[in-house]
Amino acid sequence: MSRLSPELEEIVQARLRYYRDLGVYDFYRRGEPDAEALQWPAETLTPADDGVEKEQPRLDAPVPSPLNPSLDSEPVIPARKPVAPPPDLVPGIVPAARRGAALEAIRAEIGDCTRCPLAFEGRHKIVFADGDPNARLMFVGEGPGADEDAQGLPFVGRAGQLLNNMINAMGLKREQVYIANVVKCRPPQNRTPEPEEANTCMQFLWQQIDVVRPEVLVALGATAATYLLGRKTSLASLRGRLHDVRGSKLIVTYHPAYLLRDPTQKKEAWKDLQVAMTELGLKASSRVES
Ligand code: URA
Repeated sequence: MSRLSPELEEIVQARLRYYRDLGVYDFYRRGEPDAEALQWPAETLTPADDGVEKEQPRLDAPVPSPLNPSLDSEPVIPARKPVAPPPDLVPGIVPAARRGAALEAIRAEIGDCTRCPLAFEGRHKIVFADGDPNARLMFVGEGPGADEDAQGLPFVGRAGQLLNNMINAMGLKREQVYIANVVKCRPPQNRTPEPEEANTCMQFLWQQIDVVRPEVLVALGATAATYLLGRKTSLASLRGRLHDVRGSKLIVTYHPAYLLRDPTQKKEAWKDLQVAMTELGLKASSRVES
């Protein structure tokens, strides 16, 4: 691997410090991942050899975990631009038979949205969601990429293929879970959504969550975690424990796009998914899709 010159290294370090000050800890490398990166090697990650302590994490009682020994020492980073707080939870549960229609009503409310700048930055399709309105498990990503923007469905590109494999390894089919994003329109060049964009769009994700009422929510990456929790904190400090979001248990893990770039972290992500599986009473699938 080629080394950076001292001058360039200093510039890169300064830029990294700047992003840390902003609360950005997670970086995604650009470029094409190889096909192997799409695999979810569950056979090497079975519960028996995963190294995860089997004790149940408790809601509202964060315990230091082997997933993250430094859990309690991570600072909360003050957000430069505020993350809007979630609206109050509307009492009452939408009956299972009406959830599909309730979600369609939210989609209709969004319409041909022009509420934020993303509407004018090359968007082709609004990406609402995919999956079962009665899902017990919901995944939340950051925002559509090029494939999603073209098809109008979340997680259908390479990151989506990996997510499908992760879901299958949990013993589920994609159709059994619900998948949505923080923003419903593609940010140009797949950049992180601006707070104005995310805060504007979150009202619809909150409504979707309130209709589906999943038992477990999985935040895929720092952006989803930030907007679901209403605060910017490093991903490392959020992993390894359950958070409470509107009555659902939230688990924070790496974004599949990050796992494509750094497949060594799949094992860590699998530990997070196993926490979700424990909550849902699921057993890992013995069959591995690649
Ligand atoms: N990345 C996301 O965060 N969401 C998608 O839908 C696709 C890629």
